[in-house]
Amino acid sequence: MAPKRVLTLWNDEGLNNQDIPVLRKVSEEIAVPFDKETKQQIQALVDSFLCRDDASGLAAPQIGINKRMIIFRNKTGDSDKPLTMDDCDVLINPRITQTRGEKVTAAEGCLSCPDVQVDVSRFPEIKIRAVNEKGEKVSKRYLDWTARVVQHEIDHLDGTLIVDYEGNLYYPKNKQALIDKIFKES
Ligand SMILES: [Zn+2]
Repeated sequence: MAPKRVLTLWNDEGLNNQDIPVLRKVSEEIAVPFDKETKQQIQALVDSFLCRDDASGLAAPQIGINKRMIIFRNKTGDSDKPLTMDDCDVLINPRITQTRGEKVTAAEGCLSCPDVQVDVSRFPEIKIRAVNEKGEKVSKRYLDWTARVVQHEIDHLDGTLIVDYEGNLYYPKNKQALIDKIFKES
């Protein structure tokens, strides 16, 4: 399946008013077992992620699908090798069932928020209940960077993005005018 365009809150011209409502919508639970449309959408998410080398994860609303599914790298692997499904977890209807430890702050980027990074505080350990891409129930535990990525991707399913957090905002100097414009408009 051809990879889908990644939606963004803005582009170099300013706010992206067509993409914003999709990125901001609370996504729907997926019925299990999957119907044909859902299977195709899962494949679209997988294909759209595997072809990229610039992302830790991707959530369905980022490719225009308001359903609760995410994909992400399950290890900090060898970035020289092409990404395969062995390097990824797909979680459908993910639910955080437990968090542990004190929140840790780190700068995060997002394909849907081009050119910026924001300091976000996340739990260093989480437990998840979900369904995998085969429709099987799974319980998973994630640590550190992967735990951060999963919390970031689940945020997308609720219409939350890194710019909603209060932490420091980082961007290249040559984007100053654009950033001023975007944050005044929104
Ligand atoms: Zn993101």
